[in-house]
Amino acid sequence: MTAKIIDGKAIASELRARVAGEVARVKRDHGLVPGLAVVLVGNDPASEVYVRNKHKQTQEAGMASFEHKLPADVSQCDLLALVTNLNGDPAVHGILVQLPLPKSIHTETIVNAIDPAKDVDGLHPSNAGRLAGGFQALSPCTPLGCIILTKSVHASLEGMNAIVIGRSNLVGRPLLQLLLNENATVTIAHSRSRDLAQLIARADLVYAAVGKAEMVRGSWIKPGATVIDVGINRIPTAEGKTKLVGDVAFAEALEVAGAITPVPGGVGQMTVACLLVNTLRAACAIAGLPKPGV
Ligand code: NAP
Repeated sequence: MTAKIIDGKAIASELRARVAGEVARVKRDHGLVPGLAVVLVGNDPASEVYVRNKHKQTQEAGMASFEHKLPADVSQCDLLALVTNLNGDPAVHGILVQLPLPKSIHTETIVNAIDPAKDVDGLHPSNAGRLAGGFQALSPCTPLGCIILTKSVHASLEGMNAIVIGRSNLVGRPLLQLLLNENATVTIAHSRSRDLAQLIARADLVYAAVGKAEMVRGSWIKPGATVIDVGINRIPTAEGKTKLVGDVAFAEALEVAGAITPVPGGVGQMTVACLLVNTLRAACAIAGLPKPGV
């Protein structure tokens, strides 16, 4: 039996429509226009594509979108000054500094300068700590998307065995915390883990966030498991072109898993949609309004 393919594109589109509905409601009832500021330093082509997508989708959701493009040789001092201005700007409820930053900039210093109430990327230590403590927090967007995709298959994750492969601050660690909040039993694996195949074989839910093309083989997966593939890897094809693949050997896993996200068309689609959710939540919290319905 082949696995159900989880349609990230459709789920993200439905989520964006719900966000747009809530944005229209807070505008109408409270005169609040959620605003997202994105800061792009330099001209990394992949980052430029992400930022363009964010701008378009933010506007389509009815929010204000502010773009700040700075040259690659901008000083840390000037970048910090921009972040400080955005922290104080009442029209801005979410601040996202596109990573990676040029090597001349100390990323941690910039992330730490963002007002935690506007930290829609969820990377500020205050939000990471709150999430780890089980308190309400702005959580990183990709892990939030992973949970929504999983819940499109399982209404409740309570008691399920989950494995997260990868322990980055951006994906693996916050995903571990979100899964704990859902009452899953979580194993987190990394480059020093032993017997990865055996760890994965026990899991009802498999999250791969490694950055190694097709590393997770189909034979490692428990029959019927749900597989969420976060990895984005570009590999050469026989025709001399390139294509995107995930961290999971998709064709193999399709024959074993119960449900699986494709790459592209899975988790990647959810990340920007969840950024809109975080911006809406941040705007409502700053304005003292109840948590929105998304
Ligand atoms: P990262 O910071 O490089 O972290 C990779 C993690 O994988 C590390 O924790 C590393 O372990 C672990 N790892 C490396 N080799 C391993 C192995 N052989 N076995 C088990 N674990 C291993 O990467 P990231 O930022 O989390 O991103 C991971 C992937 O997700 C990348 O492909 C990235 O492009 C993709 N991504 C996608 C989205 C999206 O929107 N779809 C968003 C973010 C990231 P150590 O900690 O021991 O080094």
